Amino acid sequence: MATLGNPKNTIEILQKYHFNFQKKFGQNFLINTGVLEGIIDAAQIGKEDFVLEIGPGIGTMTQYLCEAARQVVAVEIDTNLIPILSDTLSGYSNVEVMNADILKVDIQKLAGEYNDGNPIKVVANLPYYITTPIIMGLFESHVPIDSITIMVQKEVADRMQEGPGSKEYGALSLAVQYYAKPEIVLTVPPSCFMPQPKVGSAVIRLTRHEKPPVEVKSEKLMFQVIRASFNQRRKTLANGLNNFGAFSIGKEALQECIEALGVPGNIRGEALSLEQFARLSDLIYEKQNPID
Ligand code: SAM
Repeated sequence: MATLGNPKNTIEILQKYHFNFQKKFGQNFLINTGVLEGIIDAAQIGKEDFVLEIGPGIGTMTQYLCEAARQVVAVEIDTNLIPILSDTLSGYSNVEVMNADILKVDIQKLAGEYNDGNPIKVVANLPYYITTPIIMGLFESHVPIDSITIMVQKEVADRMQEGPGSKEYGALSLAVQYYAKPEIVLTVPPSCFMPQPKVGSAVIRLTRHEKPPVEVKSEKLMFQVIRASFNQRRKTLANGLNNFGAFSIGKEALQECIEALGVPGNIRGEALSLEQFARLSDLIYEKQNPID
């Protein structure tokens, strides 16, 4: 039975193993059963599912995942947590703990081994310092993903959902929305963690699109255009693109592409929608690769 959602049991385990929290690994353990149940519900896990958990900590959410899913693989970077996980997960036969850095794990291989290469569910209370590389790594590597249900810093969750015109809108919003449908399912106050983080948190579910909402000639080029546009937020789009230095056409040609979109020549990147970025990147692509 899942027991660690109860703060008393968490404290007992931490004391038994003389565990010291490591700030560098973003360790804030969940101690609220309502939040844990909310995450499992939001992730829509069934008995047929394979779940990858990133950063199990002492195994609090892992216990819930083991009870809901067919098979769980939990990847934890902190070697000091491995003996604790052997203890707290000893009652479950459907979990594999890997002592590794998630950014170095071949997730494609895991999906092949444990889920016949079918789309997997990812669930995590993420270490906040690497939220963006983890999410982008999962999407850009084209690992088969069904959904990603994750606890992140509240501002980051907001950023993922935002559209043009908002202060929070940026490269992460566009990347997430290109690959998935983002939905904030819970907001979580610092008191639900041990130790308490300084910021509010939120659980967001990213449901992978079967097909991206826009079509582009080159995904790589579109993301370069997006990164270039937000790299210097205060500059106009034309200057931002030109200063980025990744495009083989000059400032005038870039300006022509922007004008061909039918938007003012001095527009800033933060005003463009995903559709407009896709069209702009195709226009740049065509100028960079003229058909003779
Ligand atoms: N899931 C647990 C919970 O909810 O109580 C712990 C969450 S804690 C916010 C983040 C966890 O991720 C920690 O256990 C930390 O050691 C682990 N972690 C940090 N960086 C990691 C990485 N690069 N790869 C795998 N795990 C990592």
